[in-house]
Amino acid sequence: MNKYLEDLVKLSKFDTQISMFEPQIENEKAKLATFVETAEAIKVSINDTYAQIDDVKSKRTKNNIHLAELKTKLDDISKKHNEIQNEKELKALQLEEEITKEQIAFANEEIERLDEITEEKESQLKEYQEKLAQEEESIKDVQVAVDNQIEEINKQRNVIYQERSELLEKFDNKILTFYEKIKRWAKDTAVVPVKKQACYGCYMKINDKTYAEVIKSEEIINCPHCGRILYKEDETVEA
Ligand SMILES: [Zn+2]
Repeated sequence: MNKYLEDLVKLSKFDTQISMFEPQIENEKAKLATFVETAEAIKVSINDTYAQIDDVKSKRTKNNIHLAELKTKLDDISKKHNEIQNEKELKALQLEEEITKEQIAFANEEIERLDEITEEKESQLKEYQEKLAQEEESIKDVQVAVDNQIEEINKQRNVIYQERSELLEKFDNKILTFYEKIKRWAKDTAVVPVKKQACYGCYMKINDKTYAEVIKSEEIINCPHCGRILYKEDETVEA
C-alpha cells in the first residue's frame, strides 16, 4: 500500500477512536445520573411527607384547643343546673349539654382520626428514609465504578493521542491538509474502506477502473461520488 495512504488509514482510525471516547464517558456519567435522580425524587417525597405530618399535627392542636373549650363549656353548664328556675330553662340547658357532649365526642374522634393519619405518614416517612439510604449506598458504589471506568477510558485515550502524535511527526503536510479538508464535512468517515466494490462512506458502487486502482493501492484514490479517500481493507485485518 502507498505509504501516504497507509498513514491516512491509521490517522483516520485514531480519529474515529478519539471521537468515541467522549460518548463513552458521557454514557458512564449517565449511569450515575439515573441513581442521583432517583435519590432526589425520594428526597422530594420525604419533604412532602414532613409537610403533610406538620399539617396534620397543627389540625390536631386546633382540635385539642377546641376540646378544652368544650370541656370548660360543659363544666359551666353543670354549674348552671343550680340556678335553674323552671322546666323550660332545664330543657334548654339539657339540650345545650347534649350538643356540647356530641361536639366533644366528635372532637375526640377527629383527634383519633388525625393520629391514625400521622402514624401512617410516619411509617411512610420511615420507608422513604430507608429507600434513600439504600439509594445513597448504591450511588457510592456506582460512583466508584464510574470513576474507575472513566479513568480506564482516559488511559486508553492518552495512548491513542500519543500514537496519533507520533504518527503526525512524520506525516506529509500536504496529505494532512487534504485529509483535514475532507474531514471537515465527512467527520470520522474521511477515509473509508471499499467493500463489495462500494464506497463505505456514501455506499455507492464504484466503477471497475477506480476499483482496480483502489485494489492496487499505489495512489490515493477518492470516491468519484462523494470524494472520500478510499482504501481496500486488508482481508486479514477485516477477519
Ligand atoms: Zn463515496
